[in-house]
Amino acid sequence: MNSNKTHKKILLYNTLTREKENFSPINKKEVRMYTCGPTVYNYAHIGNYRAYIFADTLKRVLIYSGYKVKHIMNLTDIDDKTIRDSQKEGKTLKEFTEFYTKEFLKDINVLNIVNPTKFTKATDYIPEMVKIIKKLLKSKLAYKSEDGSIYFDIKKFKDYGKLSRLVLENQKENASGRIKTDEYEKDNVQDFALWKSWDEKDGNVFWDPSKKLGAGTEIGKGRPGWHIECSAMSMKNLGEQIDIHTGGVDNIFPHHENEIAQSEGATGKHFVKYWMHNEWVLVDNKKMAKSFNNFYTLRDLMDKGIDPVAYRFWLLMANYRTRVNFVWEALEGAETALKRLYNLYKDLGAGKGKVHKEYKHKFKEYLEDDLDTPRALTVLWDVLKDENISNADKKATVLDFDKVLGLGFEKLKEEKISTKIKKLVEEREQARLRKDFQKSDELRKEINFLGYEIKDTSEGQKISKI
Ligand SMILES: [Zn+2]
Repeated sequence: MNSNKTHKKILLYNTLTREKENFSPINKKEVRMYTCGPTVYNYAHIGNYRAYIFADTLKRVLIYSGYKVKHIMNLTDIDDKTIRDSQKEGKTLKEFTEFYTKEFLKDINVLNIVNPTKFTKATDYIPEMVKIIKKLLKSKLAYKSEDGSIYFDIKKFKDYGKLSRLVLENQKENASGRIKTDEYEKDNVQDFALWKSWDEKDGNVFWDPSKKLGAGTEIGKGRPGWHIECSAMSMKNLGEQIDIHTGGVDNIFPHHENEIAQSEGATGKHFVKYWMHNEWVLVDNKKMAKSFNNFYTLRDLMDKGIDPVAYRFWLLMANYRTRVNFVWEALEGAETALKRLYNLYKDLGAGKGKVHKEYKHKFKEYLEDDLDTPRALTVLWDVLKDENISNADKKATVLDFDKVLGLGFEKLKEEKISTKIKKLVEEREQARLRKDFQKSDELRKEINFLGYEIKDTSEGQKISKI
């Protein structure tokens, strides 16, 4: 059914090996991909969205190259921050996280991010997390502390550090200094919590597996740590071994390192074949982050009248592995360029043509080289500027490219022009044929007055909104 069988040589940069590798999925029929999603405790900022635009582009490229992709993205609706802030607002954890989940879904929709096959909420997977923790306790990779919290013993997992390549020393010298919080500092390379015993700050947010999920479990009243959430959701939906796991570079340590330890510790199998990470968005050469208070949300963009898709376009102008420095002028420049592309597209008319083979080949080749979107975009411009291709073929090619770029060309409508305007344009055409240029000029002015611009081209008059 699929004529598009040239996907054998996709190169992807694997953080695990620090090399571009030939992509070859575990199961040829379906690529299994997991993306670390947002913690739904506030509006995500545009720096966060780089991770989702990157994952979306990756998925689109795989599909464009003929693969079927099963994609899971989690929503972290239980952690320190969600509990803390829901209490501040006097809301239940559910009410609070559902609000920000909805806002997140709206945002990804305006950014033309295709929904994953499934969004998974961490709180729906507590039994699966407990199951993994029990396994880890049994194999002594995890231990229970005096207060009932359960920690992963990183010294017992010999591969610990293989993803981040951090040299870990004195990892567990001071057990009492263990951090129970999710917000690790990079210097604190210590055992991490799989399960946090309940304390007063948690209020009414807790689970009690020892009571609810069958007798005999050593896991008492408390809640999961952040890292275990992703291992459980990934394994439950995609199996013990998956092809691709994505996230931002700041997820490499400790989050993904810990995911590897828990998952491989529990199953004894290699967890993820390709780890892929996008770089940061900087503001004044500092990472855009809530903690630095130097972030913008999509609302900030829209308040300035900027189309959020321009942000997607701006990111595509850089490789996902390079840091980008956010400045408003750059974004506005991207928006101007995007509008130009839209206008060129709108001028192509309604004809049905064919995708241009050579251009498609080039476009695909660039993307299959570790998602080289900047070069792929140059092909898009080349197509639109090429005078040897018919408008109909250009249109078909642009729409085909947009399956990967997601710039929303298919949503652009040709201008609806009223019959009154059409009549004036027709009258002007007649005047021009009679060489009555005075009349023709008068009609042009009238058309301008009604809000339209008219251009005389080799293919006749072209009309567009001013
Ligand atoms: Zn994760």
